[in-house]
Amino acid sequence: MPWTLSTEFTFDSAHTITGYDGPCGRLHGHTYRVRLQLTSERLRPSAHVRRSIMVADFKTLKWAKKDVTQGGLDHAYLNDLPDLGDDTTAEVIAAYLHRETLRRVKETLDEGDDGADLRLRVSLWETPDSCCEYWE
Ligand SMILES: [Zn+2]
Repeated sequence: MPWTLSTEFTFDSAHTITGYDGPCGRLHGHTYRVRLQLTSERLRPSAHVRRSIMVADFKTLKWAKKDVTQGGLDHAYLNDLPDLGDDTTAEVIAAYLHRETLRRVKETLDEGDDGADLRLRVSLWETPDSCCEYWE
């Protein structure tokens, strides 16, 4: 994979690990830190430039940084999101970020391009020293 696009951002959210016997079972919040690494075998056009000079737009990768009222995860109560529900562990959120980010990137591809060469690695820090990684 010749190209790796890498970007990092944070979002602040609240959650409750339903059924957890301990402090995580109570309403609390985190400043989540996200690193997304997207690899590609070739360059493509994007929504903003029609020449094949990009892996993807950074803007597309950073969707989750947006406020929850604009479709992101910032200032959300994560348990309210239908795709997460009561299972808002770092593991579940990382898998969700993986699925949803790849879906959004593939939405921007030209017709006939299935993006089969794209690979995404998600790293999600719930605290400064605890991270979950998800990739396929
Ligand atoms: Zn927590």
